[in-house]
Amino acid sequence: MGVGRELRPQFPIFASFPEPLHYLDNAATGQICAAAAEALWEFETAARANVKRGVYRLADQASAAFEAARSTMASYIGAPAPDEVVFTSGATSALNIAAHGLAERLSPGDEILVSVLEHHSNIVPWQLAAKARQAVVKAIPVTDDGRLDLDRLGGVLTDRTRVVSLTHVSNVTGAVTDLARLRAAADDVGAILVVDGAQRAPHGPIDVKAIGADLYAFSAHKMFGATGAGVLWGRSAILDAFPPLLGGGEMIREVSFAGTTFAAPPHRFEAGTPPIGPVLAMAAAAEWLMAQDWSALAAHEARLTGRLLDGLGSLPGVRILGPTGLQQRLGVVAFEVDGVHAHDVCQLVDQLAGVALRGGHHCCQPLMERFDTIATARASLAPYNDDDDIDALIDGLERTIEMLQ
Ligand code: PLP
Repeated sequence: MGVGRELRPQFPIFASFPEPLHYLDNAATGQICAAAAEALWEFETAARANVKRGVYRLADQASAAFEAARSTMASYIGAPAPDEVVFTSGATSALNIAAHGLAERLSPGDEILVSVLEHHSNIVPWQLAAKARQAVVKAIPVTDDGRLDLDRLGGVLTDRTRVVSLTHVSNVTGAVTDLARLRAAADDVGAILVVDGAQRAPHGPIDVKAIGADLYAFSAHKMFGATGAGVLWGRSAILDAFPPLLGGGEMIREVSFAGTTFAAPPHRFEAGTPPIGPVLAMAAAAEWLMAQDWSALAAHEARLTGRLLDGLGSLPGVRILGPTGLQQRLGVVAFEVDGVHAHDVCQLVDQLAGVALRGGHHCCQPLMERFDTIATARASLAPYNDDDDIDALIDGLERTIEMLQ
């Protein structure tokens, strides 16, 4: 336990990187924690066998560890049953399974409601599903401070809305979605609520039941696990009705040329050899996350976010895209520097101050269009960030602005 700098010994990158690292690109990927790296190494070097097939002890142990990881992930998100946890390669593949599965329920003219805040992973799969079923994708507009404009919900939610799919936390503005209100709105029209939890998963245990989600997607690499794994959670009644997205080994009940039958969820959606090591590392990361003091970490993140917002607000020509207060937001802050391309900002703050920031459209082109821009810089916080990171960023930006403006 601990906050900020105290946690850095538990993240190997900070000892391995040859110079001070002010890593503020956590919304793109978090650094792996030692517990997850060790679980990956242990599996690959001391316990490696394929899962769900061998009968020798090594294979049995690998299968048991894989299913234990399913239970751990169910605990992390408050899922009623481990079998509702589908292992995927990440949030993107999870959302594709969801969209493909829900497409079955759509008739021509039905509507899928997303928002202008969404990552492309929560837009494009729905566009593909809509195209296949002659359905329509609509989007909830966004306010000037980067939140869902729920006053305008009535203009896009209709009795043809079958699916509402929204991000839990914006990867650009940091705004936290009012899911209680959206659950109620979805219920009013009998729609399924899908939640993209990619940016929420690193911020501590989740309760999918309390949120009222029907399906919930996230990636391991953003929650201090390895790359290559993720989860789609779904209520069993919903997953049971989904067709598989991928066909292959280990997702079938019986294969014949007369016709193939499929395994029950979650295996129906886990064709082929799954990302076993990354899944075990994800479970180790979830254990690590569950062992932290989340009231201390939330207070730490809010304090640093406040310092970041104040620091950015004090610099000439800097525009923040998103809420400038601390209510209902996490530590993801996108900003523009007047007259300077986001890539130049990111390169210079790295060269001048050793700060790793993201610059680009953040896979959110409709949101960029909403804010009349094509790219922004973005700083995003993790538990190991501390005041030194914020100071380095503000100092690096000040010098960047002096040089370029
Ligand atoms: N959804 C959101 C809000 C994200 O921020 C991201 C990644 O940045 C994704 C989905 C996709 O995650 P992945 O690339 O790990 O599949």
